[in-house]
Amino acid sequence: MSSIIYPTTSFKATEQLILERGEGIYVYDNQGNQYLEGMAGLWCTSLGYGNEELISTVEEQMRKLTYSHMFGGKSHQVGMDLSDKLTEMVPVDNAKIFYGHSGSDANDSHIKMLRYYFNAIGKPEKRKIITRERAYHGVTVAAGSLTSLPVNLAHFDSPLEALGILRTDHAHYYHGAQNGETEAQFVDRITGNLEKMILEEGPETIAAFIAEPITGASGVIVPPAGYYEKVQAILSKYDIFFWADEVITGFGRTGNDFGSTTMGIKPDMMSFAKQMSSAYFPISASVIRGDMYEAMIDQSAETGVFGHGYTYSGHPVGCAVALKVMEIYQRDNIFEKAAKTGEYMQSKMAAFKDHPLVGDIRGAGMIGAIELVANKDKGTPFATGAVGGNIMKTCQDNGLIVRAVAGSSAAFCPPLVTTEAQIDEMFEKFGKSLDQTLDFVK
Ligand code: PLP
Repeated sequence: MSSIIYPTTSFKATEQLILERGEGIYVYDNQGNQYLEGMAGLWCTSLGYGNEELISTVEEQMRKLTYSHMFGGKSHQVGMDLSDKLTEMVPVDNAKIFYGHSGSDANDSHIKMLRYYFNAIGKPEKRKIITRERAYHGVTVAAGSLTSLPVNLAHFDSPLEALGILRTDHAHYYHGAQNGETEAQFVDRITGNLEKMILEEGPETIAAFIAEPITGASGVIVPPAGYYEKVQAILSKYDIFFWADEVITGFGRTGNDFGSTTMGIKPDMMSFAKQMSSAYFPISASVIRGDMYEAMIDQSAETGVFGHGYTYSGHPVGCAVALKVMEIYQRDNIFEKAAKTGEYMQSKMAAFKDHPLVGDIRGAGMIGAIELVANKDKGTPFATGAVGGNIMKTCQDNGLIVRAVAGSSAAFCPPLVTTEAQIDEMFEKFGKSLDQTLDFVK
């Protein structure tokens, strides 16, 4: 092992794949082997690898203005143009945009803005945040406390209480249904639990409810019909913000512009990163409603500044890249094309339903997961993550990168520019790997 402390890796593992270059939707290792990138890196390289327009944009912006910050009223045109463009695109009223560089820090900024806002309007007690079981919202101390995956919480002693984090049910019918509940009964029960929690805690203490419209790292959970409608009604009733974490689902991933659109959500706040720049440069955005921003203006003047900002908030290279990415998304109808390819991808996934290892298949647009189970009839999960690890490794040996999530689900999230012929190639490789996994579980 080199001297790197690898992120989200067992320290007992050795380097398994050393990548050297990428082109289109393929990456190549240091032995020259080709892999179809079925996960767009970490759900992010929407326009694939080696896009010349984006490379030129980076170079041009680097030559023009390599760096500038945004503290104390400094700005630059490309940052202002990007915020105008995003404001036009997002379903948040009179949106205002705070820039960062990762999904985690976008969520941290939101936690701080929520507190700042409720202090500004004289409701300092309204600061708790409801997250859901199985949520993934990042790994910083604050965003990591919103995350509910055991592996991200274990041994880190995250300050959940200090941050006022509350956890409600996940919306995964396949694993969450009790005693033969229908989907509608499941939705009634878990949204009932949400309302009960709000009343027990006191609505005046709860600032926001955060959700990935469709989850990523917890296994691509698509909530049943009617779930978000009920959640949204409860939140409106008690004056609680709907905070959509669109770090994965933003920008054409789920068959529409945003996951909120696909799931019928009207968010008050949104978090973006990843596909915002197709991962050509780290940049994130925390989007809030215009009236929240207006309410914070006097308070920031009173203390001199809104005392939150990163050295790289609004990095001009990140802004230039994100602006170009938005131009490409719109000019080349990327979302519409991805919606069509997404339908094809979902149909290819559905074709695995009779495979003896497959328990559940889920997804929307160009994101999906196929869950492998120990008992197909009962939907019993495997006791350990070994089968998930095996399918991931077998796919890799067969020239396909997928990711094992939530134990034994194989996740698919190819670049949005993947063609139908490449989707065929992806599932041909996956099918072969799945059959080989049968031998592993014997
Ligand atoms: N939110 C969601 C929904 C994510 O999937 C992720 C990362 O996968 C994050 C936040 C954190 O983003 P980052 O890894 O850029 O900090």
